[in-house]
Amino acid sequence: MSTNALTCTAVSVDFDGFKAVNGVDLTLERGEVHFLIGPNGAGKTTLVDAITGLTKYAGSVVKDGVELRGRKVHHIARRGIGRTFQTAQVFEQLTVAQNLDIAAGAARPALSLLRRRTALPEHVVAVMDQIGLARHAQTPAGILAHGQKQWLEIGMLLVGDADVLLLDEPIAGMGQAERDTTGRLLHDIAQTRAVAVVEHDMDFMRAFASRVTVLHAGAVLATGSVDEVTNDPRVQEVYLGAAHEQETADAATA
Ligand code: ADP
Ligand code: MG
Repeated sequence: MSTNALTCTAVSVDFDGFKAVNGVDLTLERGEVHFLIGPNGAGKTTLVDAITGLTKYAGSVVKDGVELRGRKVHHIARRGIGRTFQTAQVFEQLTVAQNLDIAAGAARPALSLLRRRTALPEHVVAVMDQIGLARHAQTPAGILAHGQKQWLEIGMLLVGDADVLLLDEPIAGMGQAERDTTGRLLHDIAQTRAVAVVEHDMDFMRAFASRVTVLHAGAVLATGSVDEVTNDPRVQEVYLGAAHEQETADAATA
C-alpha cells in the first residue's frame, strides 16, 4: 500500500461568498503526524469538516484512489476517515469498555450489541492498553479526566478501524504531562496510519510534528518540516510574528 493516504486538491469552501477555505492542496501520508496550524479563523476546522463530509466544497478529496466529494458523512467514516471534535464526543454514562465496544461494533447488528458480552474483543482490549485506559475499563466516561476523554475518543476511532485520523485541537486544556503522553500516542498511532493534528501550541508542534502545513486566510501559506516552516519569513510574519515579538521582548527584559 502506498504511504499516501489522503490527497486534497484545490479544496474550497464558500460560505455565502466568503471563502473560508481557498484552494487548499494537502497530502497526508501514513507514518506521519502532520500538523495543521494557523491563526484563529484560518479555516482549519472548516477543512476538516469538508474532508469528513460535514461541509460542501469544491475541489477533490481522494482516499486510497476513491473520490470522496459528495459522499455522505457515514460513508466517509466507513472509508476509514475518523475525526475528533474540540469537545470530546463520548457516551458519558457508559464505561470506557462500553464506549470502545460500541465504536468497534458500529457495523454489528443492533441485537448483538444489546446482548451482554462476557469478554471484550481482543483488538478492543489492545486499543484500551494503547490509549492508557486499561485500568479504567469499568470507569464511566463522564468521570474521566479531560485528557483521558480525548484519548478515549481517539481509541473509539482506532477500534472503528480509521486509518486517517483528523484531530481538532486534541491537547486543548491538557497539562504538560498529558500533552507529552498524547504526543507519544499520536506517533504510536501514526506508525501505520495518517494522523493530522489541528493545533495552536507551538511547543507541542515542535516536539511532535513530522510535517507541518500552515493555513492563513483559508489558503496554504507553507508546508514542510518544522524547521522549514518556522524559518519561512511569510509564516513568521503572519503567524509567529506576535509570539516572536513577545519572546524578543521577554528576552530584552530578562
Ligand atoms: P479555524 O478552525 O482555523 O480557527 P474555522 O475553520 O473555524 O477556523 O473558520 C474559518 C472561517 O470561516 C472563520 O472566519 C469563520 O468565522 C468562518 N466560518 C466557519 N464556519 C462558518 C459557517 N458555518 N458559516 C459562515 N462562516 C463560517
Ligand atoms: Mg478550529
